Amino acid sequence: MTPPADTAPSTNSREILDELDHAIADHLVWLKTWHTNLVSEGTKAPRDLAYDPHHLCRFGSWYVKNQYTGLVNQPALRNLANIHKDLHDRAQALSTIGAETQKPLPQGSYTAFMDTFAAFITHARRMEKAFAAASSNMDALTGLHNRQAMMNELEKEHDRIARSGNSACVALGDLDHFKQVNDTYGHGAGDRVLMASAERFLGQLRSYDTVYRYGGEEFLVYLPGADMETASRVVERLRRSLESAPIQLDFEKSIPVTGSFGIAVMDGTVPLKEVITRADLALYQAKDSGRNRLVVWSEELQAVAREAKPA
Ligand code: GH3
Ligand code: MG
Ligand code: MG
Repeated sequence: MTPPADTAPSTNSREILDELDHAIADHLVWLKTWHTNLVSEGTKAPRDLAYDPHHLCRFGSWYVKNQYTGLVNQPALRNLANIHKDLHDRAQALSTIGAETQKPLPQGSYTAFMDTFAAFITHARRMEKAFAAASSNMDALTGLHNRQAMMNELEKEHDRIARSGNSACVALGDLDHFKQVNDTYGHGAGDRVLMASAERFLGQLRSYDTVYRYGGEEFLVYLPGADMETASRVVERLRRSLESAPIQLDFEKSIPVTGSFGIAVMDGTVPLKEVITRADLALYQAKDSGRNRLVVWSEELQAVAREAKPA
């Protein structure tokens, strides 16, 4: 099963998941009603006999409604929609025979109909699993991958780097005085700032870089193949993307937002957790020296921190 697109916002995954759930439950009920109608003499089911019957159930009308929004534009969903149409067309043909001739249904057509029904349910269930896995990796607010997904992905990257001798950089970004945003404008405004910040970061990154929601108002940026110089350039772009224009809260209000960043190299010589701790130490330094800046981890920085806080 092709997993859902990585970049799909989590709200989309949840909506699709919800529709798949209803589609399975609704069609199990529909199959029972369809059989009951068929064996009840004289009972006609207008929906099964109508024009384009596959548009009349919840799944069908949802699919048609979203056909041009991009939400359902994925091969696996299109395939499910085709099976769904086939299912209702077969049901219509059999219902028409049943209603008009009162004769037993052709066995071959009936078997093909039931096979199509089984294919629909199997396919929908497989898709449900794929979308559930994708949503569990995503942060619901920003649509970014969450910390859990991040650790799985970065552990793999760390192993790959340790084997290959390549390197990468990890940056931790933290919005400055974010608590004040919540306190002054409310939690909803804070949420909008988090969404807008994630969008700005995504707009600045190279296609192979990844930004994760590390926690609260903290983001982790993974920059594969980047040395310190490249990483500093990319992260400086992220910093400026926040500083350059206030974030629009609504039509009237916008607020200035800045962020601080710490960068560390990941070259396979120290464990992943230590790399993140180093980026965090550099971030702490960025906060301590005035915020809205980036600091690169170094042995000297580590030594200064050790002296300031003896074990
Ligand atoms: P600093 O510049 O030192 O980072 O200060 P700060 O105010 O950004 O940091 P602090 O850790 O004091 O506050 C972080 C705040 O982020 C507190 C918490 O309520 C808020 N927060 C965490 N997650 C969310 C969220 O999902 N939505 C909103 N609106 N606020 C959140
Ligand atoms: Mg923080
Ligand atoms: Mg903060």
